[in-house]
Amino acid sequence: DNREYYLERQLQYNKDNYKKNYKIRFADRMFVLLHYSLEPYPICVKCGEKEMGFLEIDHIKGVIENDGRGGPALVKYIINNNFPENYQVLCTNCNWLKHRENQKLTLSMTKENIRCRTKNLKLKEEVFSHYSKGLPECNCCGIDTLDILSLDHIYGRKNAKHKKGIGGHELYTWVRQNKFPSDFQVLCMMCNSAKKDKQDCIHKIK
Ligand SMILES: [Zn+2]
Ligand SMILES: [Zn+2]
Ligand SMILES: [Zn+2]
Repeated sequence: DNREYYLERQLQYNKDNYKKNYKIRFADRMFVLLHYSLEPYPICVKCGEKEMGFLEIDHIKGVIENDGRGGPALVKYIINNNFPENYQVLCTNCNWLKHRENQKLTLSMTKENIRCRTKNLKLKEEVFSHYSKGLPECNCCGIDTLDILSLDHIYGRKNAKHKKGIGGHELYTWVRQNKFPSDFQVLCMMCNSAKKDKQDCIHKIK
């Protein structure tokens, strides 16, 4: 009947426009990444990573303006404001490392906190060594910088048996207590965020 026809049309309209908007968003992002890259293609200024799916727009001096912070809003802001300074292209790993280095500058240096951090680091090394069967490394790309390695839920977080929303040393403690379940693996931040739950990393799809 008419209603069905109308609904079908509406669905098709949404689909077409989603694709169209996606193409525009992709082109805009490419435009911005190219502007802040020192090569004729998008590239991480720190390590030279060239895979566009791994590249991010970094605020060199942190977020100092209301620019949408990230995603399509930031891309739009940059274009509308004629490519201001304070931005650079970093891959997910280099972005994360920068964030970690900044964090280290503000760490509390009380004896108790240092002791606690050392204990957590040992736990991370123990758990990650178990899953890497040796020195901790990314199970996809093989990078071995501990600071950017994370514990990935192979089948997605939704199927996890632990308490919701835990991460870091809380998760590592749970994993050790539960005798290292087999549905975890070590991934770097880049491969982990590219994988998005059950799908594969860009490295694997290629
Ligand atoms: Zn990089
Ligand atoms: Zn990796
Ligand atoms: Zn990967």
